[in-house]
Amino acid sequence: MTAPFTGGCMCKAIRYECSVEPIGMGICYCRDCQKATGSAFASALVVPRNRITITGEVKYYGVRGDSGNLVNRGFCPHCGSRLFGTPANPDLISIQAGSLDDPSWFKPQAAIYAASAQPWSCMNFDFPKFPKMPPGK
Ligand SMILES: [Zn+2]
Ligand SMILES: [Zn+2]
Repeated sequence: MTAPFTGGCMCKAIRYECSVEPIGMGICYCRDCQKATGSAFASALVVPRNRITITGEVKYYGVRGDSGNLVNRGFCPHCGSRLFGTPANPDLISIQAGSLDDPSWFKPQAAIYAASAQPWSCMNFDFPKFPKMPPGK
């Protein structure tokens, strides 16, 4: 069991606690996630919005995804750590796995937007890869 679990940004101005297990975990190779993380991919877990308690001031930067929906990426305005994302479904929130106090239990179940992965990304894992979003999402 992982719940409840906690995490926060590098400077500790923002902390969070989630009372339930994630409903999904995955990594995303889209260009927006590459830009936002400054790295090869974003690793995130999704939880119900009403089961996470956030303290501190989170800044959000919104970008339209290729679905046309606004995707907001939350970060700490003091230290710049990426923390959250608000997907199209307003009942959900995603948490960047690297912000967890113990990121070792994170287990991605799928990789999305693999079509835009960089040639230098390590991708030899055993969970499914989808070129964009998984079918039906
Ligand atoms: Zn911070
Ligand atoms: Zn992405």
